[in-house]
Amino acid sequence: MNELKGIGASNGISKGKAYILKDNMPEIKEKKIKDAKKEIKKFEDALEISSKQISLLKEGAIEKLGQEKAMVFDAHLGILLDPEMDSQVKSKIESEKVNASFAVMTVAETFKQMFLSMEDDYMKERAADVSDVTTRIIKNIEGIEIKDLTLIDEEVIIIAHDLTPSETSQLNAKFVKGFVTEIGGRTSHSAIMARSLEIPAVVGTGSDIFNIKENSNLLIDGSTGEILINPSEKLITKFNKKAIELEEKKKIEATFKDKESISKDGWKTKVAANIGSPADIDAVLKNGSDGVGLFRTEFLYMDAENWPTEDEQFEAYKKVLESVDHKIVIRTLDIGGDKKLNYYKFPYEMNPFLGYRAIRLQLDKLDIFDTQIRALLRASVYGKLAVNIPMIATIDEFKAVKERFAKIAKELKSEKIKIGEYELGIMVEVPSVVEMADKFAKHADFFSVGTNDLIQYTFAADRMSEYVSYLYQPFNPAILRKLKTIIDASHKEGKWTAICGEMAGDPLLAPVLVGMGLDEFSMSATSILEIRRLISEINKEEAQKLVDKVLDVETDTEVKALIQKFLDDNKITI
Ligand code: PEP
Ligand code: MG
Repeated sequence: MNELKGIGASNGISKGKAYILKDNMPEIKEKKIKDAKKEIKKFEDALEISSKQISLLKEGAIEKLGQEKAMVFDAHLGILLDPEMDSQVKSKIESEKVNASFAVMTVAETFKQMFLSMEDDYMKERAADVSDVTTRIIKNIEGIEIKDLTLIDEEVIIIAHDLTPSETSQLNAKFVKGFVTEIGGRTSHSAIMARSLEIPAVVGTGSDIFNIKENSNLLIDGSTGEILINPSEKLITKFNKKAIELEEKKKIEATFKDKESISKDGWKTKVAANIGSPADIDAVLKNGSDGVGLFRTEFLYMDAENWPTEDEQFEAYKKVLESVDHKIVIRTLDIGGDKKLNYYKFPYEMNPFLGYRAIRLQLDKLDIFDTQIRALLRASVYGKLAVNIPMIATIDEFKAVKERFAKIAKELKSEKIKIGEYELGIMVEVPSVVEMADKFAKHADFFSVGTNDLIQYTFAADRMSEYVSYLYQPFNPAILRKLKTIIDASHKEGKWTAICGEMAGDPLLAPVLVGMGLDEFSMSATSILEIRRLISEINKEEAQKLVDKVLDVETDTEVKALIQKFLDDNKITI
């Protein structure tokens, strides 16, 4: 096997050694032993090694993520050195004459059950820490290799089933040159993170990737989804040439940094950035963004050890509002689906993407929602704030949201806390909102279309599943007609529409979106200059004629052909 193909998820060409991340925990069985002392020694040695490993991880985390984030490793060391656990494991080995791994596993189970039975959500979540630490001890007893992502110190391409958003955000781009995942599509969150970190990535390859041998030389192309295993010199030269061409293109686009986002015939729009934390501001400024079209606040929650406080959130929102002198659209918590929290156990559901997530959860947990609203309203005086509500499905939900904002605003006023002006809009992700767009446009200040979810709900195709990834069809007239409906409905009420899903950053779609009069394109900061350059070459009036054509054909292939013809006729290259 020397070539594999997946879904290109983050552009760029990169090389590195294969670093395979696979669950390698063996099944632990009870074994009767004769020499308890020897078994206890194995346990003690494993504790010592584990302690060194965790201390190293802690040092790395302090350096990369700061003291606060590294605190989780103190908790791990605390569990590791817990005298109660130590004595229970040793007495089990001695009295029951069982192997050390089995003793650790059973004692860990009692500790986990103890934490899980506690009332407090925070304490419940400590069960996961016990699991983490004891798995490490068992692997060290069994002599099984442990892979810690933060300790990577040579150029690698990671191969994994999937990477969670928090794992992805901890990758050190200096050494991690790319990643390849077995599952996922272009809009899975690991793919989105890869684009914002500018790490080339290929996703949804299927299980064949696990046939790749550790340390093989890999070359990946994140735009085509190609994965070359131990490539020949000839192939390396070919790909190097492609990488140089990409660099040339980037140089031209860099000249658009301080330009307006304006079409060839003078129609103005905005090209903004999607961010996940205040740390992304640098990329926003570096790419000359017209503001932030989507601040996904869930990362503040996912990177924390507990629900972030009002002040912690306020500081993060204030920082972004103060640093960027344009409109900042902050989205309220969009958790659930594939985005989980370490400190909160979601109810079990057959279809989490259709379940308890985003605004559904917040309208149910009003204390969590109120804390976020207070932080947002307090921050509103520091810049141009727009707040955007994810996964709205009904008018009643949005009315409930507005009431909540009004109630908190009143409370803040009575506390003599100042509130600035702000807009309140809707993420259009659920098809019911498109059907009712004319009515929603009367209540909302703006629409921001989350096409990643809108596509998955329109085609009933899980965005995480590589088996149905052919149904991720942003070019299908079914989606384009929806966009037209939404944009027209907003304009009729004097409101504006943005797209913050991945469609906004797809160069091939730019002519259609210009033709529809999209007010804001919001995307990974790294795509901004490319899209601004393209918009500058498109004549809006011509593009409107293209829109009429694409809405009238039957398939996504026909739409792509029509757009390609438009580009060719107008001598525009992408
Ligand atoms: C979307 O659904 O298009 C979107 C922008 O939100 P997310 O990708 O975070 O679900
Ligand atoms: Mg979404």
